[in-house]
Formats: sequence, C-alpha cells, structure tokens
Amino acid sequence: MNPYSTQSIDEDDIKAVTNALRSPQLTQGKINEEFESKLSEYLNMKYCLTFNSATSALYAAYKAIGLSKNDEAITSPISFVATSNMLLECGVKPIFCDVKRDGNINEKLILPLITPKTKAIVSVDYAGNSIEAAVIKNICKKHDLFFISDSSHSIGGIYQDHKIGTLADMSIFSFHAIKPITTGEGGAIVTNDTDLYEKAKLIRSHGVIKKDLWNTDVNNSGFNFRMTELQAALGISQLKKLDIFIGIREEIAQTYDFIFKNNPYFFTLHQNIPHKTTNHLYPIILSPEFWCIKENIFTQLQKEGLGVQVHYKPIYEFSLYKKLFGDIKLNNANDFYRAEISIPCHQKMTLDDAKKCAGKILKVFEQS
Ligand SMILES: *Cc1c(COP(=O)(O)O)cnc(C)c1O
Repeated sequence: MNPYSTQSIDEDDIKAVTNALRSPQLTQGKINEEFESKLSEYLNMKYCLTFNSATSALYAAYKAIGLSKNDEAITSPISFVATSNMLLECGVKPIFCDVKRDGNINEKLILPLITPKTKAIVSVDYAGNSIEAAVIKNICKKHDLFFISDSSHSIGGIYQDHKIGTLADMSIFSFHAIKPITTGEGGAIVTNDTDLYEKAKLIRSHGVIKKDLWNTDVNNSGFNFRMTELQAALGISQLKKLDIFIGIREEIAQTYDFIFKNNPYFFTLHQNIPHKTTNHLYPIILSPEFWCIKENIFTQLQKEGLGVQVHYKPIYEFSLYKKLFGDIKLNNANDFYRAEISIPCHQKMTLDDAKKCAGKILKVFEQS
C-alpha cells in the first residue's frame, strides 16, 4: 500500500538517535535546546518550545494566552480534531467558521462570528497551504484577539515573504510520524512574545519555577509535555532535509497537476495554490456527480494499492460536538468533506511512482 503520507528516515537520522542514546541526558538536555534554536532560526522567530506532541503544544498555547471557561475561539471545522478538542479541554467553545474551496478558513466570514466572548482565532493551514494570514492578523489586531496558527501540516511552507506560521501570536507545528518532518511523536510552538513563551514553558513542565539551589516554586499547575533528547536528535537531523522533502513533494504535486489537467472527474487543489505549500496532503476534489459513489471509488483506489484517506470530516459532525453544540451545517465544509480524497504524496515516492498512481486513479474513475 502506498500511503498518502509517510516518514522518510535515513542512516543519518538513525546515527543521530543512537548518538543521543549515548549522551548523558535522555531528556531535558542540550539536544532539545539545539533543536529549539535551529527551529527558531529556520522560522526566523524569537522563541521555540518543543513538545511531546502538537496536541499538547496546542493545549499549552491556548492556556498561555489565557483561554478559559466561557471564552469562544473561532476556528476551522476542516482540521484534525485535536485543534478543537484542546479548546474543549480549556472549557472554550469552538465557533466553527466555514471554509473556502481550498479547505482553509474563509477569512471573509470571520467578522460576523466575533462576539464579546471571542478571545482568539485558531487557524489551520490545510494540507500545507497557508491561510490568508495577513488578513486574519489584521482582524485579530482590530478586535483585540489572539491569533493562534495550527500549522501542523505546514512547516517550511511560505506565505508572502514569511514562513508559514510566523505572523501569528503563537504557531504550532507537528512532528508526528507522517507530518512534513518527524520526531516519532512531537510538536513545537514558536512565538515572538516573551510572556507567552514563559507561560507555555511552565505549562510544559509542571509549572515548576527554579529558584536557588534545590528550591523551586509552583504558582500554576502544569504537565509533563516534554520531548525526549532522542526525539530532538531525530528532529535536528530531519530539519536539515525539510526543504529537500518539500522539493520532492512539490515535483510530485506538479506531476499530478499535469496528468490530471482538465480531467472530467475532479480538480486538484494544488494547481491553484498561490503560496509555496508543503504538500503535506495532495487533495483531489471530486465533481458533485461522483460524491454519491465516493465510497466505491475510495475502495477501488485501496484495491489498487493506494493508501488514500479523507481529510477531514467536519469537526462539528463528531458525536461529542453534536451533543455539546447541536446540529451545525456549514455548506462549504460539508461539500468539502463529500468531495475530498487525499492521494499518495510523500518524499519516498519517485515521479514514476506518481505517474503510476495517477494512471490508476484515472482508471478507477473511468470505470466508475
Ligand atoms: C496532526 C495534527 C495535529 C496533532 O498533532 P500531534 O503531533 O499528532 O498531536 C493537530 N492539528 C492538525 C491540523 C494536525 O494535522
């Protein structure tokens, strides 16, 4: 099965991890500090904090900006559920904003959703393609809201002259196995704000403040959300290859775009993307006449050895969210879910693999 996305580990990665295993500290050491400074440098941001997952990083970011009970945050329903789950964990009501044709939050629909309870906008760069970050930043500035960017798909992508995620107050990246680079499990926050950095750092590690000698203090409770040194070593090694990985995925995406041009079955998101995307996902968007046979197409693609997936079921469609917030229906998000399939696009594929995949996909549609 050729998966929609997968990790790419080479001998240098393995060496980096085995060296870390021999280092004096397996956690809370120099390797995490180095990974953080390399990430800060790569993204041109003042501060970086590594985490054991993007989910815990999201939670820490939400807590750092002070989200709490009865607050609201405007977010995208087309995301992995963690983006909203962590809002729920903070007692915050997610207010779902409909998406555009590219699966990203529609910045033009945000304003009417702002209420006196709104504290933040939480965006998601779907598939690795940037949201309209400058517009959202402006809305946040005008309405005194925090801007949190769940950039789990998109480390290394570019928006205007900025790396994706760098216009927000805090941005979160994921290093889960199949994200653009991996530490097995892992995540990071970047920010330019000293206060938010200090707060998130305390949440990451029990709220413990070091004082003199053995003396410590705790003002607010926290967690153990730390990344191990082994993971950080893998992260440093992977980060060196990030731009190469993105380059390979871009070539695959362009190969797909070329083969799929003007086909009668679906259009590809990638062909219309104005920014440099990471192509974490390569979504095809089925024409409405194929929506009712999507299950059949999906099964046929799997039979052909394509590890396809659908990203995402709108978060408000999950039972928990229905129970909490009732029936929500956002037309574009619903249609997006009915139309989308993510096809294999990762750095372990060759262009020949991509051509073969494309051929199989067109064949499945022809025969449907
Ligand atoms: C993967 C992902 C997460 C969660 O990342 P983990 O590192 O697995 O916790 C959060 N948000 C989005 C958009 C994701 O794709």
